[in-house]
Amino acid sequence: MRQIGRDPVFIEYGEGCELVDVDGNRYLDWIGSWGPLILGHAEPSVVEAVIEAAKRGTSFGAATAVEIDLAQQVVDRFPSVEMVRMTSSGTEAAMGAVRLARAITGREVVIKFAGAYHGHSDGLLADAGSGLATLGVPGSPGVTAAQAAGTVVVPWNDRDAVSRALEEHSVAALLAEPIAANMGVVPPAPGFLEFLREATGAAGALLVFDEVITGFRVARGGAQELYGVEPDLTVLGKIVGGGLPAAAFAGPREAMERIAPAGDVYQAGTLSGNPLAAAAGLATLAQLDAPAYARLGELTARLSDGFLALAAERPLQVAAAPGLTTLFFSPEPVRDFAGAGACDTEAHARFCRAMLDRGVYPPPSQFEAWFVSLAHDEAAIDRTLEAAAESLDEAL
Ligand SMILES: *Cc1c(COP(=O)(O)O)cnc(C)c1O
Repeated sequence: MRQIGRDPVFIEYGEGCELVDVDGNRYLDWIGSWGPLILGHAEPSVVEAVIEAAKRGTSFGAATAVEIDLAQQVVDRFPSVEMVRMTSSGTEAAMGAVRLARAITGREVVIKFAGAYHGHSDGLLADAGSGLATLGVPGSPGVTAAQAAGTVVVPWNDRDAVSRALEEHSVAALLAEPIAANMGVVPPAPGFLEFLREATGAAGALLVFDEVITGFRVARGGAQELYGVEPDLTVLGKIVGGGLPAAAFAGPREAMERIAPAGDVYQAGTLSGNPLAAAAGLATLAQLDAPAYARLGELTARLSDGFLALAAERPLQVAAAPGLTTLFFSPEPVRDFAGAGACDTEAHARFCRAMLDRGVYPPPSQFEAWFVSLAHDEAAIDRTLEAAAESLDEAL
């Protein structure tokens, strides 16, 4: 909110696709807690599942059936996954995947893309998108040179840069958001994910898809299902916890069995696989069937087609993937983080303020996605597009 020159909004409650702040203002919410709330706020079956789980105790430090059920859901949905390790946040899950990749390969260097976000662990903050991009922070004080040196950053959608980095370094893993969504939404160029699969395989590096946003959203089995490209390891979060803290990293049995106690790679967490979070995740996934994805696709198309119509006579670009869209304030198509960074963030900020004044809550950053949920409907989208037309006239 500071970036768009507004005081923060303090939320009193959410219901469906709406938020109500402590002053009683009501907003159409296009953030959905930055991804987890694909069913909307306070969805009854999720609330019920959490209440029932809480009555039986909130944490045990021992196994429960519900975390196995949730892991089974992940295995069923993700083509490349046979075993799952739960964590409490996407940050921890990405850290675990990197540690495992380094152990498996016996190498140290990790490649990431500029503008991609993999959580706030020291080594992965270099040139990160999301909040760092919003605040203009290239890295962060407190990260040691040694930690930063383990990460090589290359531009998204740049095959030559990836090839060079794989040649010049002994690479343990290449991390990618298969559809970049933390620099705004920037889908992979045609063939780019297939290229990453082939190039990492040839170099003996692991391909890690960070599907914290795309998982359970762009398709039942994430971007790896949508594009038909299987990574070696997958990082999950957000939707998998249904709005409570849960995340996971996952992969084939052979790789995952390196993790303690089956193997020698240590990883742990007091609240990992927490029964409330697992119950919320399971209740959420229970509703994400084929008709739900068809509906999410329809709703997203209605919103992004509406944006496209608005962009026709304005210096705007629209990017979209199922359940995600971004309106870039740029006269040129955005292919990477440099393109996103060249956007007119001042005009974007004016647009966001004008939307909030009209009771619509967009992501208040040029470097974040609009998150479509199943609680949105045609009326909510049409009201958003009307507000957007007026707000663009004010902003540009
Ligand atoms: C949100 C996010 C993370 C970090 O997850 P947290 O639960 O916030 O730690 C990692 N990767 C991606 C792609 C994300 O969008």
